[in-house]
Amino acid sequence: MKRELSGIGMTSQRTRARMIERLRADGIRDERVLAAMAAVPRHIFVEEALASRAYEDMALPIGLKQTISQPYIVARMIELLAAGRELGKTLEIGAGCGYQAAVLAQLAKEVYAVERIAQLLDKARANLRHLRLPNVRLKHADGNLGLADAAPFDTIILAAATGCVPQPLFGQLAVGGRMILPLGGVEQALCLIERGTRGYTETRLEPVRFVPLVAGVE
Ligand code: SAH
Repeated sequence: MKRELSGIGMTSQRTRARMIERLRADGIRDERVLAAMAAVPRHIFVEEALASRAYEDMALPIGLKQTISQPYIVARMIELLAAGRELGKTLEIGAGCGYQAAVLAQLAKEVYAVERIAQLLDKARANLRHLRLPNVRLKHADGNLGLADAAPFDTIILAAATGCVPQPLFGQLAVGGRMILPLGGVEQALCLIERGTRGYTETRLEPVRFVPLVAGVE
């Protein structure tokens, strides 16, 4: 394994640096986010046959009809979540192959990442093992319910789109906390929800395209 990681290490360091420059050019400004994106080797999260494309700005298949999100979207969502503050304790819904959880782990105190497909969660576990991230916990669960045992969360991020925000997530967001998600069905937009002392505010942002949030586990 060591050889495999360092074998493509050289290429990946260069291509990763190029990915960071592209993120900058595309408008990602938060240096903490750029540093986190630079720290995580994206190629270990994709199928070996696709490893050479891991740093291109595109979503890639991870099996079971799911995709690893495009680097720009991962960076953009985390930047919106982290604007002017720390991520604190984070809930990620839709861990997939674990890539975004690894990026979040660079910035957050604790990351709880839930995934409904057991087979993907196993992949995420295997991928994350190489990176030794003691602050990430993966759970096989339906994110529609949030994660009551670990709530409240300072930040919540959804990697799957929903027409309406699952009700439990509102209560599991700490006062002063933020949640970001792709909202909608065929037409989706990023939506930022902030919980203040008097209630919740919602801001609609740019259009996006995500796989749907599905109920139940498998
Ligand atoms: N964050 C991932 C992207 C995964 S794509 C990455 O970095 O690669 C979205 C994921 O959300 C899929 O793996 C899908 O299975 C999962 N998902 C969909 N509905 C869900 C639900 N209700 N609870 C948990 N995970 C869900």
